[in-house]
Order: sequence, then C-alpha cells, then structure tokens
Amino acid sequence: MTDHVTIVGAGPAGSMLSILLARQGLSVTMYESRPDMRTSDISAGRSINLALATRGIEALSEVGVMSEVEEILIPMMGRLIHDDGGGISMQLYGNRPHEYINSVSRTALTSILLDAAEATGRVEINFDMRCQGVDFEGGVLHFTGSTSGEVSHVPFTTVFGTDGSASAVRDALLEVNDGSVVLEPLVHGYKELTMPTGSDGGSQIEREALHIWPRRDFMLIALPDLEGSFTVTLFLANEGPVDSFEYLASGGDVPGFFEEHFADFAPLVPDLAEQFTTHPHGHLATVRTTGWTHDSRAVILGDASHGVVPFHGQGMNAAFESCIVLDACMRDYPGDWATAFAEFEKGRKPDTDAIADMAVANYVEMSSSVVDERYQLKRTVALELDRLWPEQFTPRYAMVMFQTIPYAEVQRRAALQGEVLEQLTGGLTDIDEVDWAAAEKMVAELDFNQASDTGA
Ligand SMILES: Cc1cc2nc3c(=O)[nH]c(=O)nc-3n(C[C@H](O)[C@H](O)[C@H](O)COP(=O)(O)OP(=O)(O)OC[C@H]3O[C@@H](n4cnc5c(N)ncnc54)[C@H](O)[C@@H]3O)c2cc1C
Repeated sequence: MTDHVTIVGAGPAGSMLSILLARQGLSVTMYESRPDMRTSDISAGRSINLALATRGIEALSEVGVMSEVEEILIPMMGRLIHDDGGGISMQLYGNRPHEYINSVSRTALTSILLDAAEATGRVEINFDMRCQGVDFEGGVLHFTGSTSGEVSHVPFTTVFGTDGSASAVRDALLEVNDGSVVLEPLVHGYKELTMPTGSDGGSQIEREALHIWPRRDFMLIALPDLEGSFTVTLFLANEGPVDSFEYLASGGDVPGFFEEHFADFAPLVPDLAEQFTTHPHGHLATVRTTGWTHDSRAVILGDASHGVVPFHGQGMNAAFESCIVLDACMRDYPGDWATAFAEFEKGRKPDTDAIADMAVANYVEMSSSVVDERYQLKRTVALELDRLWPEQFTPRYAMVMFQTIPYAEVQRRAALQGEVLEQLTGGLTDIDEVDWAAAEKMVAELDFNQASDTGA
C-alpha cells in the first residue's frame, strides 16, 4: 500500500477522482497532456458544452463543488423539436419541476474541479505531459512534453488511467492483464458550430431547451452557452455519395445542404460555410473494455474504459458516477486495492455496458423517433403512467437522467415497461383511446423485484 498515487488524464474523470483520492488522505500527482485550460486559451476539445444530469450532479455534490457549478448551469426543460416544415414543438423531459437537464461548459466545469483538487493541498497537477506508456515491471511511467518534446520517466506505485477514449494507460494495462478493448465506431461523425447571439445580444432561439432538428439519417442539436450563443452539433454519416461529411468536404454544396435541410437554422449563423470548412470533423465510438485493472497497480475509468456515444448525454455523467463507485470500493476494502479495483470492475461493467447500449439506441430516438407519431403517443402515455402511478412506472429517459438506479437495472425495467407501452398503445392513435383500467392492472403487475430474483 502506498499513500502516493498517480493519475493520467485531468479531464472530467481525472479531476473528480483526484479530489476523492485526496479525501482518502492520499497524495496525488496528476499528468495531463494538454496545457492548463484555466490559464491558456485552448479549445475545449470534444464538445464545448455538455448535458449535466442527476448522476453527475450527485457526484459533484459529493465532492463539494455543486454550489459553484450551479452558477454556470443553464437549465434545459425539454427537447425543442424543429420539424422540416419549419414548425417547432416542445417535448418536456418529465412531469416534475426538477426533471430537466443542464447545459454546462466543459472548460468551466473541469476548471472548477481542478481548482477544488488543488485546494485539497494534496493534488499536484503537471500539464503538457503526454503519457506514452507504462512499464509495470519497472514501475515507471513514460512521458513526452507535449510542446517541448522532452522525454521523462516517472516512478509510480499505483496509476489511475483517466486519459480518455484513446487511453495510453489502457493500452499498457491490456498487455499485462489479458484484457481486451473493442472500439465500436459509429458510421456517423459530428461537427460543432456556433450560433452567435442576435443583434440585441440575446439568444436567437429559446434559451432553456435542447434544440433538435431531426432529419432521420442525420440531425442538428443545439445546447445553450452562458453568453447567449449556442453550441450546435451536426451528426451526419462520415461517408456516402450525398449527405455525408465526405461529400461535403469534397466539394459538396455546404450552404445548399443547410438551406435544404435546416432552412430555419441556416440564416441564424452568418458564417456557416466558413465554420463548416474550418471546424474539425470528429468521430464517435463506443469503447468496451474487459480488464480494467492490474492487481493493486492500475485501474482505468471514464472514457478510457467505458466510452459511450453522446446521444443520451451520459458519458461524463457516467464517468463521474464511476469515480464515486470506485471511491466506495476503495473505502470498502481498505489496504486491499487489488480487491477494491476488481470489485469495481465487476460491479460497474454491467452498468457501463447498459448505458453504452442505451446511448446507441437513443440516436434513433433523437434523430427520427421524436417526429414519429407512434413514438410520440407512447411517450405521452409513458408520462401519464408516471403521473398516475409514479411508484410503479418511470419512463426510461427519467430513470437514466433524473435517478441513480444502476444503468443495467434501468435497461431491464425499461424493456419490461416497453412491453406494457406496446400492448397499451397497439393500434391506437390518441391517448384518449387508452384503456386505463387495463393500464392500471398491467402497471401493478410490473414487479421489478420478482423479475430480478428469477434473473428474468
Ligand atoms: C460530441 C460529444 C458530446 C458529448 N456530450 C455529452 C453530454 O452532453 N453529456 C455527457 O455526460 N457526456 C457527453 N459526452 C461524453 C463526454 O465528453 C465524455 O464521456 C467525458 O469527457 C469523459 O471524461 P474522461 O475524463 O473520462 O475523458 P476525457 O474527457 O477524454 O478526458 C481525458 C483527459 O486525458 C487527457 N489525455 C489523453 N491522453 C493522454 C495521455 N496520453 N497522457 C496524458 N493525458 C492524456 C486529455 O487531454 C483529457 O484532458 C460527449 C462527447 C462528445 C464527443
């Protein structure tokens, strides 16, 4: 056992974890490949702003930063759908006043965590140092200065890998623990654009909403920024003869694409074509790893072990929750980190696999189902069931975003509830046609505990 530990990667997961480890009385040295975002004008990297929901909020409260974080949140009460005829409609996220999600700047949020980490007096952060590999036998981490190119070798006893989806710690770990990683790339990529404020300095579209322009094979979404601008993300096929990043990057008509598919959006971004040409095209993948640990020497978490596609807005929320789960495992097995880390993987992996599946499924929901009449009917009925029998029925979205039921359990309950919704709405077109007596009986028969005991 050591009282000094090393973290590689000072993103959301690493910075939160460093606070938790410091609170265990450990002294922490953290290495980050990028410059300090609090003092240098670097791009936020992937996604300028993120949706923060209950799981993330609980973790941020646990490390004592939530009052500061609240200052930088913008509530998003629901999805504001922009249909292709120019119409808009709001789909509230839940029935209750607290059932909304929040838009937050990745840079501002991570900066709060880094400040809190340093304020513990036990965390030292080294920026501009990229981990190149881990020698477990020799107990040495290899780094290269991101700007200087200088090579250094740093001794370590236990390393926590929070270095994101292309994790160098993970690569080294899997060589010694017989684990494996599968990257499941999505055929869609993304590009971020900025919708500026209007001439009056205010937002050009409703501020307290997550905007979606669903177009089935692709979609635009927009999340509000504190300044009144919006961060807009286009999700589109990477390749293809038309309507793809490949097509648009190789001479396709960019203004024409936006005017054809997003006619109400295009005029709101005067330099749309220029932004489109100069902003990077990002790729998306699910990261599924087996073998998150190596004895008491190493453990990986966050996107390094369980990266998900962004369509449920849960990657960072899940990474924060993983930090809390790992911290609890370490407290449960004081002095025996090998067991603590192994228990962490055993308990957490079914949940991260479940949110990975639900995040992929949510792409279809966001990009096409939201305008599908049958989906809308099921969603309205689900909200009504939740309103009438809240103890028995909670829509899947609410379980993921507003509760902390383990993700695997959410997935299981949602499948059972999905069958109820299917039966209740089959052949119907309007909520007034629902047989509420049958609904009451079906909902009462939803016995999650019993199903769990029998392994069903
Ligand atoms: C377009 C998009 C939208 C998203 N929207 C949401 C959302 O709305 N809500 C949500 O919860 N999640 C969202 N996510 C997911 C979220 O961004 C990630 O799940 C989250 O950032 C994971 O945090 P992390 O700390 O594990 O990894 P990262 O954020 O990737 O942080 C890893 C850190 O390690 C550093 N690093 C990398 N390699 C090395 C190395 N070799 N040596 C040293 N340092 C290294 C990196 O610079 C970085 O600072 C989104 C992702 C994308 C791509």
